[in-house]
Amino acid sequence: MRRVSIFGSTGSIGQNTIDLIARAPDEYEVVALTGARNIAQLAQDAVRLRARIAVTAAPDLGPELKEALAGTGIETAAGPEALIEAAARPADWVMSAIVGAAGLAPGLTALEQGATLALANKESLVCAGALALKTAQRHGGKLLPVDSEHSAVFQALIGEEMAAVERIIITASGGAFRDWPLEKLAHATLEQASAHPNWDMGQRITIDSASMFNKALEVIETREFFGVDPDQIEVIVHPESMIHALVGFNDGALMAHVGPPDMRHAIGFALHYPDRRSLPVERLDLAALGQFTFRAPDDTRWPALRLARDVMKRGGLSGAVFNAAKEIALDGFIDGRLRFTQMAEVVEQVLTDEKAVDGLIDAEMTLDNVLAVDHLARKAARTAISRKAG
Ligand code: NAD
Ligand code: MG
Repeated sequence: MRRVSIFGSTGSIGQNTIDLIARAPDEYEVVALTGARNIAQLAQDAVRLRARIAVTAAPDLGPELKEALAGTGIETAAGPEALIEAAARPADWVMSAIVGAAGLAPGLTALEQGATLALANKESLVCAGALALKTAQRHGGKLLPVDSEHSAVFQALIGEEMAAVERIIITASGGAFRDWPLEKLAHATLEQASAHPNWDMGQRITIDSASMFNKALEVIETREFFGVDPDQIEVIVHPESMIHALVGFNDGALMAHVGPPDMRHAIGFALHYPDRRSLPVERLDLAALGQFTFRAPDDTRWPALRLARDVMKRGGLSGAVFNAAKEIALDGFIDGRLRFTQMAEVVEQVLTDEKAVDGLIDAEMTLDNVLAVDHLARKAARTAISRKAG
């Protein structure tokens, strides 16, 4: 029996992970499931998978979770420290699918106990890539990508030498607004930004797809995960979302990873790695699809891509600043305090004001420093938002 834990089990990635695990209940022993405010889902899954502990990140919902699982023998806990405690419990495979920088500390804790960490939480690598890789190496843990593009690159690289890699191309659907006239973007509504043309995902990443902040995070994730230079990473808009990434080699070959837009492929690959097993995803009928199309990304429409380049150039802890400012700007758009196009303006303001993070940008990459920078950048982003709103 493999011991597995799922962090962020109630979300989109978490539910897809549960779908795969629940198909083979005899193979897995579920240690911990964690969620935030969706207590009913968390409790239901904990019972169904016979988890040892269910944790909500929301301290105020601890009593509700306890009540929901009373008499089941399943332990419950609440709050950020309880998440860390659950991550410290021995497990062989841990899914990191909390959204945002909140996923960093639990993921590092799982790596410290030597687990294989299936990383959907790209924010961990954007905020603290070197730290995550070092932690895995030091404790015999392993990091496997779950983001579809990075899983695709990882698969294209099996059996290859990194020295032969010239470039990595990750695809972007272009999100909800890829065909909108530019002047309409400032008036995009929350509802419009929350409708993805191809993928069914959590609301935050869906809006990040429309703004390309998701791809911006993924460019940085690519650099951290595969250790390539920023100028070796390209983004191409591919509206069909069937090719997830391509790796270009020094002999001119491009190896593309093709598959339906279903995260259960990347999750299942990480679950069974290094084996391949049958997965319940659609088999593509290429003749029926007919064609794949591509276009160059447009920096005017998607300033987030340019900002990601700035972050990689700046280095240090600027990834944590970028992510934190982006999370707060996204909150601002969701709450109706920022227009769609103002999200990138806020992030750029925070990125260019290094005083806002007390000169910590070049501090050593420790969890404490990353969290301090994250905190200060959030504060600076909130100030930038109030100025705009005021
Ligand atoms: P989601 O919003 O559907 O789910 C997020 C999960 O995190 C939920 O279980 C929620 O309860 C929990 N959570 C929220 N805030 C939390 C907090 N402060 N502390 C602890 N837990 C908290 O998100 P998702 O779409 O499943 O995405 C999860 C992660 O996977 C993100 O990092 C996202 O970028 C990445 N990802 C998602 C997809 C996808 O298809 N959804 C694809 C690639 C990568
Ligand atoms: Mg992705």
